[in-house]
Amino acid sequence: MSTLDTRSIHAGEPEPRIEGAVSMPVFQTATYAHDDPGATPRYIRYNNSPNHEALHEKLASLTRTDGALVTASGMAAISSALLSVLEAGDHLVAPQSLYGGTLALFNDLLPRFGVTHTLVADDAPDAWTSALQPNTAVLFTESIANPLLGIPDLKGMVDVAKNHGLATVIDNTFASPVNLRPATLGFDLVVHSATKYLGGHSDLAAGVVAGASAWLEDVRRTAKLLGGTLDPHACFLLHRSLKTLGVRVRQQNATAGHLARALTEHEGIEQVHHPSLPSHPNRDRAQALLDGFGGMVSLRLSPAVEIDPFFEALSLPLRAPSLGGVETLVTQPIHTSHQDVDPSIRHALGITERVVRVSVGLEGAGDLIEDFTGALDAGLGD
Ligand code: PLP
Repeated sequence: MSTLDTRSIHAGEPEPRIEGAVSMPVFQTATYAHDDPGATPRYIRYNNSPNHEALHEKLASLTRTDGALVTASGMAAISSALLSVLEAGDHLVAPQSLYGGTLALFNDLLPRFGVTHTLVADDAPDAWTSALQPNTAVLFTESIANPLLGIPDLKGMVDVAKNHGLATVIDNTFASPVNLRPATLGFDLVVHSATKYLGGHSDLAAGVVAGASAWLEDVRRTAKLLGGTLDPHACFLLHRSLKTLGVRVRQQNATAGHLARALTEHEGIEQVHHPSLPSHPNRDRAQALLDGFGGMVSLRLSPAVEIDPFFEALSLPLRAPSLGGVETLVTQPIHTSHQDVDPSIRHALGITERVVRVSVGLEGAGDLIEDFTGALDAGLGD
């Protein structure tokens, strides 16, 4: 099973099929009767129902890892992964531009357990090395940064970690396994918010931690104790969604590229951020690392565009947080994902009220281009 598309359909499916069922049935039961009192029972929180096991195998195949674990949300995946590799007194290093929930975990929760962190402004390996302390245990990053879609020097980061004996944890939500499989670059633990591209329909919350068996064993134990495990019905929905992951994400990559190129010339646009554009600062790195440039586009509106009329004139995109679904969504990150980021850091990163993040869905590219162009015209008052 060499292609991701084939693996997304066939990996992890029960053989023989249960009662011949082509779709994985839902085992909506909290516990299981068993004959061997000494064996680990199947129990809903232990992540070992038939739905969990099938999903874990499919996700391991898609992420190119030994194993995977599903969790109740992306944040449950991030917290379970980090709490399995960190101890009191440890320090971690991460880039400044992170999903707000992750940043809040670093700022508000981890210090209560004696874990400190340093955020680096620059993604060059030297910046990571300079931020290391004797107690640094983990390097954490996102593969495509939110919302301006920068791509860190991921290979350089793995080298720094290997040279210093540190664990590496990467949030690959924005790229999805279609565009990047970070375990193949040497990352130890890969997390996804499956609420986004993996689920793909804006109708479930889930997370994934994937990695080599030795790392995943600790994550399994931690997740079992924290309790953020995924309900079998959500497992079923995610399992079904994964079968269309490749076709959805490739289409979203293509439409995002069309939209980004079409809007670049509009007078209402100061800058379009998409890794496919020659103007993107990490375009060469993106080309070298990614199989696709991703379905996220960020627009920096020119000062001449009035923001409220622009949003009011958009008819197809919904104004909502989250990403990766079939519907195009638009947000202002200063009010959503980056609300809790220190305003001075936001300013330094260029995340202002004029930045509009677009999660490109599966609508026709021409329809979206027409809609955004019309909304920009409306914002300019034409
Ligand atoms: N990681 C990234 C990059 C995200 O954008 C989000 C949510 O927006 C999360 C993690 C958290 O995911 P969830 O809402 O599924 O907990």
